[in-house]
Amino acid sequence: MSKIIIIGGLSAGPSAAAKARREDENAEIILFEKGAHISYATCGMPYAFSGVIEDRSNLIVVKPELLQNRFKIDVRLNEEIVKIDTVNKVVYSKIGDYSYDKLVFATGAKSIVPPIKNIEKATNWSTCRSMIDFDKITSEGLAATSKHVTVIGAGLIGVEVAENLKEAGKDVTLIEGDNQILNMWQQKFGNFAETVLKEKGIEVITSGFVSEFELDENWKISGVKIKDGKTVKTDFVILSVGIKPNTDLLLENGAEHIGNGALKVNEQMETSIKDVYAAGDNVAIKNLQTNEYDYFPLGTHSNKAGRAAGANAVGKQINFKGAYKTAIVKVFDYTLARTGLNPRALNQLEIPFKTVLTIAGSTPSYYPDQKDLITEIYYHAETEQILGAELFGEVGVDKRVDVLSTAIYAKLKITDLAQLDLAYAPPYSPAKDPVVVSSFVAENISNHKSVQVSVEELEDFLTDENTNHYTLIDVRTVAEFEKGTIPNAINFPLDDIRNNIDAIKTLNKPIIIFCQRGLRGYLAELILKQNNIDTIVNLAGGFKLWQMYSDKIVIPKPVLVDKK
Ligand SMILES: Cc1cc2nc3c(=O)[nH]c(=O)nc-3n(C[C@H](O)[C@H](O)[C@H](O)COP(=O)(O)OP(=O)(O)OC[C@H]3O[C@@H](n4cnc5c(N)ncnc54)[C@H](O)[C@@H]3O)c2cc1C
Repeated sequence: MSKIIIIGGLSAGPSAAAKARREDENAEIILFEKGAHISYATCGMPYAFSGVIEDRSNLIVVKPELLQNRFKIDVRLNEEIVKIDTVNKVVYSKIGDYSYDKLVFATGAKSIVPPIKNIEKATNWSTCRSMIDFDKITSEGLAATSKHVTVIGAGLIGVEVAENLKEAGKDVTLIEGDNQILNMWQQKFGNFAETVLKEKGIEVITSGFVSEFELDENWKISGVKIKDGKTVKTDFVILSVGIKPNTDLLLENGAEHIGNGALKVNEQMETSIKDVYAAGDNVAIKNLQTNEYDYFPLGTHSNKAGRAAGANAVGKQINFKGAYKTAIVKVFDYTLARTGLNPRALNQLEIPFKTVLTIAGSTPSYYPDQKDLITEIYYHAETEQILGAELFGEVGVDKRVDVLSTAIYAKLKITDLAQLDLAYAPPYSPAKDPVVVSSFVAENISNHKSVQVSVEELEDFLTDENTNHYTLIDVRTVAEFEKGTIPNAINFPLDDIRNNIDAIKTLNKPIIIFCQRGLRGYLAELILKQNNIDTIVNLAGGFKLWQMYSDKIVIPKPVLVDKK
């Protein structure tokens, strides 16, 4: 009978334990957890602050008794393993030492606490990682006396926490050191999310380096001081500035690791130390696109990797190959999602890529309450293989990101998306799904029917020295144009454009064309090209995206160009 020891009882550990038992009825399996609970839903904690998850008890997904009774796992709560001897295969706690045949190391990670002045004296702050944190935040941060809460760090967790505190009725300030929130995404997508947070009343401060907590006479934080900036008056602070893998016990045994201490594991979740498996937030896994070790501390990976580690520890063969940074986050009524490599990563890796950006309805225009979905896909400039995508919208973002993630795994080309047999009925999708539309547009780009220019590129064009060198044409209706347009744009509505070919030719400059979302611009582009006006590009995402991206909007004078 083999003896399996598992250290860590939250996500990867219980997954490993249950799978090991399913694969081997006879193994002796002991699970050590230094805390008082196992298997609670850390991912659900932010939603319990607002009451979406109504009761604390709902966060406890699996009770120790279930592991004990149903799976015959010997669960040792409140017992921390403090030393491991991997040569003699023994783990030590303060109350005993235990030998193992195979060890599954599922110790996760801990929150990073930055060296902010006065943090060690202050009492009214917490990280947001454990049930202890959860209880402190609910009893102090959510107390009636805490009217204002500051969240430091605007990654996935910081944003979720800020949203749910706002929903719970708190005034919230979200402070981020980087120049954008949610920096897994490109800047413009981060900015879209930031706009939503601000519209909902959250104060968002970017490029804000917190240097000091101002304390009152009771050692309570009364203000959060930002270096070279203002002081945010507050009643409670939540820190969410990153995590560090809990790997010291194996690092001192010489385990191989990456820069942040995360353990290198192979597809069977074996560490570099014999008979020691690891899974969860304490490991580096392979990025399936770069084939390099990467750090993706997410619950989906800890569950799947824990399952593989548990099976392999009892002699089975299950692989967990790796990941490629698929992520999704709710931002009030909106959803932001991503998968794969984005331009920042692709540029670093010097991979030549093209981009296609579309704004398309998540459902048909005739179906009530249609919402726009912004989809940007990055694909290899030569092979056309899909490399990454970022999405933002109110409806159907989750479905499309998973289609695109699957496309990356399957190594599909951008043009393959048009061939996918995706589900269609009006409540769910238009007949041409946004993913399919992206493929059509990319095909038009490949066939040189259309050239897209991005909002970022247009912003560069809008500098004084450039504006004389091109013409910016708004092909929306006069009524749309008069409500507001991009600086320097002139208006030739699409439906009248054939009557204005000569006037456009006399402009004699390269043309940047735009409409509201991109389609009418493309049609205008085709008409002009077929009338021998060749130097022309279409603004991807049109005025809508520009409006979301930039505050540079003008209300034009009634007549800008004599079109007769
Ligand atoms: C607020 C929040 C929201 C999240 N939302 C999402 C989400 O929406 N989607 C997503 O994919 N991921 C999300 N995550 C991440 C996800 O929760 C983690 O990836 C996952 O919990 C990692 O599981 P783990 O078992 O590897 O590590 P951990 O959760 O860190 O658990 C490790 C356990 O090991 C115990 N332990 C450590 N050292 C010892 C020792 N020496 N002896 C005994 N016990 C020990 C710890 O007490 C802990 O219970 C979120 C995380 C947080 C904090």
